[in-house]
Amino acid sequence: MPLVGGHPVLDFANTVAWRLDPARTVDRVRGAEAWVRWAVAAGLLTADRAEALLRAEAADSTPSNAATAALIGLRAVLWPVLDALVDDQQPPAAEWEALRRNMVLAREGAVLPPAFPLRWQPGTVRLGDLCHALALRTEDLLSGDGLGRVRRCAGPGCGWFFLDRSRSGTRRWCSSEDCGNRDRARRHYARTRQHG
Ligand SMILES: [Zn+2]
Repeated sequence: MPLVGGHPVLDFANTVAWRLDPARTVDRVRGAEAWVRWAVAAGLLTADRAEALLRAEAADSTPSNAATAALIGLRAVLWPVLDALVDDQQPPAAEWEALRRNMVLAREGAVLPPAFPLRWQPGTVRLGDLCHALALRTEDLLSGDGLGRVRRCAGPGCGWFFLDRSRSGTRRWCSSEDCGNRDRARRHYARTRQHG
């Protein structure tokens, strides 16, 4: 799965492809193990921690469904909040409250080492910790310098988010090879139809 977001939280939101086109929507990460592998790819877990985490999940008789459900829930809450940010709208109240709860729970479960600058450190022991890590990273994203560079791909139906790090700040596509190419093909087709 390509990671085009440029920030783990945006890559997390992008784990569903074609979010805005229900006929094509596909969840790219299914199940606890897939989430752990994704977390490694997204830079949220080291490979060693991931192996230990998977062993801990496998050794536990309680199924990790609650943790994957929490991840899917957080992702569903993130979409309208990020959409609101991109569209310069106020986020919907229910999702905002759910996001706030996620952030509070994440801090409650995090370690705060006695060192400066202070930094909340989420656990890396169980799959549930991944949800907390993402909630804390969401707080970073939504209060940090990158806020004005969060964009949503202009491809119809795509819905992927990314941090626009281009100097001009005019990046439009999740990927120039993907949605960017489709747009070029679409415009080419429209032009040739006009001429034909
Ligand atoms: Zn796109």
